[in-house]
Amino acid sequence: MSKVRTRIAPSPTGFLHLGTARTALFSWAYARHHGGEFVLRIEDTDVARSTQESVDQILAAMRWLGLEFDEGPIYQMQRLARYHAVVEQMIASGHAYRCWSTPAELDATREAQRARGEKTHYDGRWRPEPGKTLPPVPAGVNPVVRLRNPPDGDVTWNDLVKGPISISNREIDDLIILRPAPEGAAGDAATLGVPTYNFAVVVDDWDMGITHVFRGDEHVNNTPWQINIFRALGALLPEFGHCPVILGDDGQKLSKRRGAVSVTAYEEGGYLPEAMLNYLARLGWSHGDEELFTREQMVTWFDGSHLAKSPAQWDPAKLAWVNGHYMKQADDGRLATLAAGQLAGRGVDVGDAAALAPACALFKDRCATVVELADWIEMLFVAIKPSAEDLQTHVTDAVRPALIALRDKLASAEWNKPAIAQALKETLAAQGLKMPQLAPALRVLVCGRVQTPSIDAVLALFQRDTVLARLRSL
Ligand code: GLU
Repeated sequence: MSKVRTRIAPSPTGFLHLGTARTALFSWAYARHHGGEFVLRIEDTDVARSTQESVDQILAAMRWLGLEFDEGPIYQMQRLARYHAVVEQMIASGHAYRCWSTPAELDATREAQRARGEKTHYDGRWRPEPGKTLPPVPAGVNPVVRLRNPPDGDVTWNDLVKGPISISNREIDDLIILRPAPEGAAGDAATLGVPTYNFAVVVDDWDMGITHVFRGDEHVNNTPWQINIFRALGALLPEFGHCPVILGDDGQKLSKRRGAVSVTAYEEGGYLPEAMLNYLARLGWSHGDEELFTREQMVTWFDGSHLAKSPAQWDPAKLAWVNGHYMKQADDGRLATLAAGQLAGRGVDVGDAAALAPACALFKDRCATVVELADWIEMLFVAIKPSAEDLQTHVTDAVRPALIALRDKLASAEWNKPAIAQALKETLAAQGLKMPQLAPALRVLVCGRVQTPSIDAVLALFQRDTVLARLRSL
């Protein structure tokens, strides 16, 4: 068997979509599992919608996820001469032909077909057939090139996800494979024209020696054309695996209107890349009952089996749970840098990010995301706003003297957790109070909230002056 080579081929017309990230992950893991190679190709032939900004975003998201590729990025727009050469080869071998039908003629044909109650299709006017005389070439029309699709027989493949699929060639039109230069085109695009997706994808997968194609369900109807083009070229067919769509929690296809769908949005939302990978992997693939696993385990297990046929549902609560798991395991220094980044985005300057590590150690267990972690740490730097209700409930006349006494003790105590604990203990003893009476008031005044980890540990994270100032507002 030849070396496994997989690829991901995003179109740079927007961010890296979660669905594409998932197929990138499957492609990457499959290649790694087999000791093969993973290629990144940028399908930028939609000149009007492709942008460099989008390429940059896609590359950044791939890097963030750690899906390192062995080749690429390869840009389709730099390969126009190659597509053109293959088109000429296909015309010469009778597998493709030029078509001078004008848009008006095509419209008229479709109209007539509709009127007769037929499914619309290209009428084959320019398709060469033995003994057929083609119409005279009209002046002033730029031809397209069409695939001369086999007239009968079936296109059949054993999909890695969906199992055997068979489509009759009678259902398949003579697809346009090359269009003349789009308006405003320059360079090769102007002289050679631009290939359509189904054609460029085949030439690329062939040239790049791709052995396994994982992609979204939306392409399953394109595959018969692609297989026919591979056959016309005498090229070896890759295996295809079409992964079902990801559904939002309303059962509809996951889309922008239904929440974040870009990988970048989750990075900004405080998710960890290892959590994203783990969660994405489980959307359409399983290994027994395993829910939490490392990249290495996935590579070991991902052999192309156990891919789900039915659509997976995006579950924000489960993603948060998975992320929470990785938050607990994450190194405190790394979390400190991430939390500092989040806080910088809010205009909060934390100074030395590394100094946040003890705070991360204390709070990370209760955080689903880095955003939540930053929410905790923010109180160390920014004025808090306790609710009137919390103040009224907890900062009562019964505890006020104890709070004042504690403040005085803390003013001269050593500033670390054991010394703060000792000051608390002495204050409670002197005032005849118990911790559950004093701690909530302290939390509300210093942290702005009633629940926190152990109060001595929390206080030790603050600057002493901040604590004293917040207790001075009594
Ligand atoms: N550019 C196509 C897309 O983004 C690639 C599909 C494929 O993998 O063949 O949907």
